[in-house]
Formats: sequence, structure tokens, C-alpha cells
Amino acid sequence: MALITKKIKGTEDVLPKQSYRWQFVEEIMREEATSYGFREMRTPVFEHTELFARGVGQTTDVVQKEMYTFETKGGESVTLRPEGTAGAARAVLEHALENEGLPIKASYFVSCYRYEKPQAGRLREFHQFGIEEYGTQSPIADAELLCLAQSVLDRLGLEDIRLEINSIGCPECRAKYNEALREYYSQYKEQLCPTCLTRLEKNPMRLLDCKSPEDHKLAEGAPKITDFLCEECETHFAEVRKYLDAAGVEYIVNPSIVRGLDYYTKTVFEFITDSIGAQGAVCAGGRYDGLIEELGGKHMPSLGFAMGIERVLMVMDAQGVEIPQPEPCSLYIAAMGDGAKIKAFKLLKEVREMGINAETDVVGRGLRAQMKYADKIGALYSMVIGDNELAENKATVKNMDTGEQTELALDDSFVGEFSDLLLSNSENIGDIKEIAGALTDFLGQLTAKE
Ligand code: ATP
Ligand code: MG
Repeated sequence: MALITKKIKGTEDVLPKQSYRWQFVEEIMREEATSYGFREMRTPVFEHTELFARGVGQTTDVVQKEMYTFETKGGESVTLRPEGTAGAARAVLEHALENEGLPIKASYFVSCYRYEKPQAGRLREFHQFGIEEYGTQSPIADAELLCLAQSVLDRLGLEDIRLEINSIGCPECRAKYNEALREYYSQYKEQLCPTCLTRLEKNPMRLLDCKSPEDHKLAEGAPKITDFLCEECETHFAEVRKYLDAAGVEYIVNPSIVRGLDYYTKTVFEFITDSIGAQGAVCAGGRYDGLIEELGGKHMPSLGFAMGIERVLMVMDAQGVEIPQPEPCSLYIAAMGDGAKIKAFKLLKEVREMGINAETDVVGRGLRAQMKYADKIGALYSMVIGDNELAENKATVKNMDTGEQTELALDDSFVGEFSDLLLSNSENIGDIKEIAGALTDFLGQLTAKE
């Protein structure tokens, strides 16, 4: 009994009264992605385990400790996606999307699964909005990606988010850097956590990303990648910064950012806030020029980011950003008696077909209780249909806010009359009309010019 009414640790429900917050955030993300030319991609929630082992990287925390992996009834090993990039890259390869021309530009919304210690801002099921771009090595693409992330955060109304960027070079610069790191860390072998000891052999850069406090301290004194960049990587990084400067995007260069994936190259970045405690990264990403090759494809330089939706919402809460309430019920029809209920039912169908939110009683309440309900849900207008209204084929629509009453015929004219009434009184719809007016003017001018 106790178990079936308890959600799994580290998961969260989004309840009907809260979902508008998610929709608001997702809508802005969708609009921004579209305006930069990215189109949504949807991939399965699980993939072959091997994909993440290769695509995220064997030496990462995610693969070593955090994946939800299980064997299916057919004996395959599958894993719930811990992130969105590997699945997207797999789909690009599987459908040979490069044949449609480069760059391939995709955005996604995914739920992710990581067996981490649940705490504020760290869940076992969480959600990401992400961007993927395949087939470009131009630093303009990096800068554009950062502009996109920045404008999402700006439009959401978030403040005090700093963008930290770094370049972790290409395999050539990395080889020299790894040598320097091995040399540095070998003095401290006794202090390293067991995972990091193996990393020291396989992928010393991962040491910089370790969450254990002692290792984190050691990372501060470690050599910096920026001192080991080859000329090409150095120029690329300088170009990215030049374009960011041109667009007025502010950033800090932080040489200790290395990111959690193995196949990152060149640009890496994080958007960080101090508003929500220790888990302050709201968005992270960079370039992964080696990923597609690692998965068996041709060399295809790529980049992307992922933004944690729960964390974004936490920051909005912490900073008191107001999220517009969802559209209320515009018309509540209270009905008494069989005939009236059928009339209400038919009218409501027409009203809703006009895109107007409307409700009636579906519980079997008496008239007073129905009106109380209309009040509770914040209906803008209410209307009662009883025997009299039915006989006269008209009824009074009441503005719940001002009490103003308008009589409307219950015939074919009803929907039109009611939507006019609604338009004349609603501020929001007033705005829409204004925009529509301006657009019509603008189109008029355009056609006049032609
Ligand atoms: P962190 O350093 O916080 O562990 P990460 O480097 O593991 O983050 P990424 O894999 O880059 O995170 O994921 C991108 C974004 O997804 C993060 O910046 C964060 O906003 C969000 N995120 C990552 N892990 C979680 C989690 N367990 N719960 C909620 N959000 C998360
Ligand atoms: Mg993590």
C-alpha cells in the first residue's frame, strides 16, 4: 500500500496546477530554437547500452556510476538515456541526415535518468532542453549556440547567470596536456579517490571534473589546458570570443571547465548561477568534434548544449520571476434540467470550437454549487440555462468580475455574440487585436509597395 502511492526517490510529479510553468518555459525554448533554425527531434527514452558507453564515454561518472541499465526479456542490455546527445547522434547516423545537407540542426526536449544522490537541483529523473548541430567547425556556430542559450535565459527573465567558457583543445593539444596532468597528479597519488586513480591512466582530464572535495582542491593547482592549445585551437577559441564580443554576450574564461563527456573538443561552457545553491549549472555544452567518428561515422565536427529545465524553474522561483497564469475558463454554463443540460452541452461544443475555454457541470451539482464552482475556477463569464431560458431561447451572460449582464439569444448567433463580448472586455485579447491590426497595416504597406 505504502509503495504504490509513493513516487520513486529522485523523481517529481508536475501537477495540473503547475504545468503552465513548464509550458511557458518550453514555449520560449521552442521559439528561440526555431528562430535560430533548429527543428525538434524526438528519440527513444532507451537505447543500446553500448551507445552511451561509447557516446558519453567509459571514463565518465555518468557511465561508470549513474546509468539505469537493465537486461530486457530478449536478453539485450538497454539503458535509459542519461543525456540527449548520444541518442541524437545515433539518429543522425542511422538516418544519414548528412545527405540532406550540412549543418544538421536539431533541438530536443528529453527526460534523463541518472542514479545520482537526490538533492536540491539533482534528480534521478530530470528534463533537458537541448540543441545539436552537426557538420560545422566554424567558430561562428559556437558563438551562435551561446547566443541562443543566452537569449533563452534572458527571455525567461533570469538574472545573475554567468557564462563561463573554455577551450579544451583537440586530441593533439590534449595529448601534451594529459602528460602534464599525469606528471602533476602522480605526486598526489595517495590522495586520489579510487575512480580517479584509474582515470589517471586512461583519461587524466577527467580528474579535473571529480566531485570529491579533496580531488577538487588538487584540481585548482593543476596545469591549465589553455597553456597547451595548438595554434588552430587557440585561433578557434579567439574567434568564438570575437563573435561573442560582437553580439554583446558577456563571458568569463574559466580554464578549469572540462565538462562531463569524453568527446568534447575545443569550446566548452557552462551557464552558472549562485541563486539555487550548490547545483548551480543551468546549461552546459560545447563542441564534440570526435563524437560522430567515435560512433562509427565519418569525421563530422559537432556541437550542442543541454539546459536543465528543473534548474531553470528553480532559478525563476528563487528570483521571483513571474510566469503568466494560464488562460482561465472564459465561459461557465450552469444548467438545470435535462433539456437545459443538452442545450448547454451543444453550445459549449461550438464555443470550444472557436478556441474559447468553456466548462459546465459534469458532477451533478445543484445550481448554487455550480455557481460556486464557476467562481472557484475563476471563470470570466457565467450563464445559467434553466426551463425559462430554454422556453425563451435566450439567457443572460454575466461578467463575473464587474457583474455586468448581457442578454444573448441561444441560437446560431450565440458563439459570435459571445466572442465579441469577450474580445471587447479582455485585455489580453485586446493586445492580440492590436498586434493583428499592426500586422494588417504592415502587410498593406508591403502590397502597396509591390
Ligand atoms: P552537474 O555538474 O550539475 O552534475 P552535469 O555536468 O552532469 O551537471 P550535463 O550532463 O552537462 O550536466 O547536463 C546539462 C544540464 O542538465 C546541467 O547543466 C543541469 O542543468 C542539468 N542536470 C544534469 N544533471 C541533473 C540532475 N541529476 N538533476 C537535474 N538536473 C540535472
Ligand atoms: Mg553530473
